[in-house]
Amino acid sequence: MCGIVGYIGFREAYPILVKGLRRLEYRGYDSAGVALINHDNKLSVLKTKGRVQDLENYAKDKDTTGTIGIAHTRWATHGEPSNANAHPHYSQSENLALIHNGIIENYAVIKAELIDKGYTFHSSTDTEVLVQLIEYIKKINNCDLFTAVQLALNQVVGAYAIAIIEKGNPDNIIAARKSSPLIIGIGEGEYFLGSDASPIVEYTNKVIYLDDEEIAILSRNKDPKIVTISNIEKTPEIKELEMNLSQLERGGYPHFMLKEIFEQPETLRSCMSGRINVEGTNVTLSGIIDHKDKFINARRILIIACGTSWHAGLIGEYLFEEFCRIPVEVEYASEFRYRHPVIYSDDIVIAISQSGETADSLAAIELARKAGAFVYGVCNVVGSSIPRNTDSGSYTHCGHEIGVASTKAFTAQVTVLTMMALAIAKEKQTIEEAKYLEIIKELQHIPDKIQKILDLNDKIKELSLIFTYAQNFIYLGRGYNYPIALEGALKLKEISYIHAEGYPAAEMKHGPIALIDNEMPVVTIATHNTIYEKVVSNMKEIKARKGRIIAIITEGDETIKAFADHYIEIPSTVECLDPLLSSIPMQLLAYHIAVNKNRDVDMPRNLAKSVTVE
Ligand code: GLU
Repeated sequence: MCGIVGYIGFREAYPILVKGLRRLEYRGYDSAGVALINHDNKLSVLKTKGRVQDLENYAKDKDTTGTIGIAHTRWATHGEPSNANAHPHYSQSENLALIHNGIIENYAVIKAELIDKGYTFHSSTDTEVLVQLIEYIKKINNCDLFTAVQLALNQVVGAYAIAIIEKGNPDNIIAARKSSPLIIGIGEGEYFLGSDASPIVEYTNKVIYLDDEEIAILSRNKDPKIVTISNIEKTPEIKELEMNLSQLERGGYPHFMLKEIFEQPETLRSCMSGRINVEGTNVTLSGIIDHKDKFINARRILIIACGTSWHAGLIGEYLFEEFCRIPVEVEYASEFRYRHPVIYSDDIVIAISQSGETADSLAAIELARKAGAFVYGVCNVVGSSIPRNTDSGSYTHCGHEIGVASTKAFTAQVTVLTMMALAIAKEKQTIEEAKYLEIIKELQHIPDKIQKILDLNDKIKELSLIFTYAQNFIYLGRGYNYPIALEGALKLKEISYIHAEGYPAAEMKHGPIALIDNEMPVVTIATHNTIYEKVVSNMKEIKARKGRIIAIITEGDETIKAFADHYIEIPSTVECLDPLLSSIPMQLLAYHIAVNKNRDVDMPRNLAKSVTVE
């Protein structure tokens, strides 16, 4: 979602800014723009609705000189995507230019006051209100830019990551954040800014993660200065980035999504590495060991997440209840935060988020912490806001995920939750040793088994051609595979724009069966497990109504092969690990259907990679 890039140093800023915006394209956006202080000290704003390429075309014959600049990709919240609403926004005098990620909630009141004072507005955004407010404060207090930003931020309610530059002040960028990420890259005699590390990583691996309500002053040839909006000076903490450049390239694949699907054997090995011992007899997660009493004595586990992470959370529910005998509730963060939930101080709250920046999940964590619960994060992006705001946690370590539709992050989340369940169950002694060992052993075979499914890619691609023009899809599963039915339907919706519903297979009879006719594709996960026979009965009910069954089955299942219209065979495993295998054909099927339909697979319309607004 919406990206920020900034540069101040000795090089030309424009190429760095545009390259940075391209690195952030994966987050999803609708407009792009830059502001530069040119060599002749002009403050130029160049912006347009559309892609970064449109910005480059627009800027071709304009002045793009200068060694200081800020750049933005917008994901509209206030005002439609348009040239006028694109960032950066000028202030009234055109002496200031500002970019902003997030939402200024009290913008309407401030805007009305500024209009009364003679300010005119050229956009419908909340952002323009902020830059005008900063200019107004600067004027009436006759103060410098930093002070004006600090005073203005004390007046605004909402979420922001901002960067601002000023005509006649080519040696300073002021940047600040609250509830929206912002990272400063530190080079030799130059600074970079990014809403994540991807625009920074090729120049430096030294970074500062700005915290909420902190303002950074990045001045040419001076150390970075960080001061809070309440005027407390902070000592900048310089950290090392874990990301590397190859994670940002497609590596020969036509899409990042396909690359990420194919990376899964490797990403899951890396997720388990150092956590399962070499003998394959034990799982150790330091985040659990360090707080084992909390887990042993937990009254309940609340899992908080959104989207795909919420589906991983549902699998967590099955795992924790089966093996740890702890009651679990899985909550949409956006609902949880507003419905006066009952939270006990001996609850464990697990927040799952790929980006670690999901706004609703952060707010839900805040609520849980206030209620005294122990909060555990399961995130992918190292150093992101959720891991910095939780008591403990485990990273998924699957590398940078760029495709907007999550694939490898999902399977890594499920793997972490599985390891957590095993580690807690062992501490609580709620799992038999033989079962514990069996699951660990099988976990280690999962990467090879995923590879076997990936080898079916051509077959799945062929199958996808038959269903490219379907208008609707139903996905069914039971037990551990029910969340995978939901996730399969979500993947298809996200990238192909085909309407799809996921259901627990037995729920069909209670309504959705009315939709079944000979045009309806029904993807059913029917692997060999304790409820296999039940799922077969559900499939027969669909067949009796002429639905077209695409079955995901365990290798060699002749019973289902005999009546399913199509089938994909996957290796057998222990029941609780089924989702790690059954999710792979779902990902590939959705991917190929979307490609057949010529969809923008890596950047599907209207979607953003990390949802940093509520
Ligand atoms: N709320 C601002 C707008 O609508 C910023 C959106 C963004 O985060 O890109 O322009």
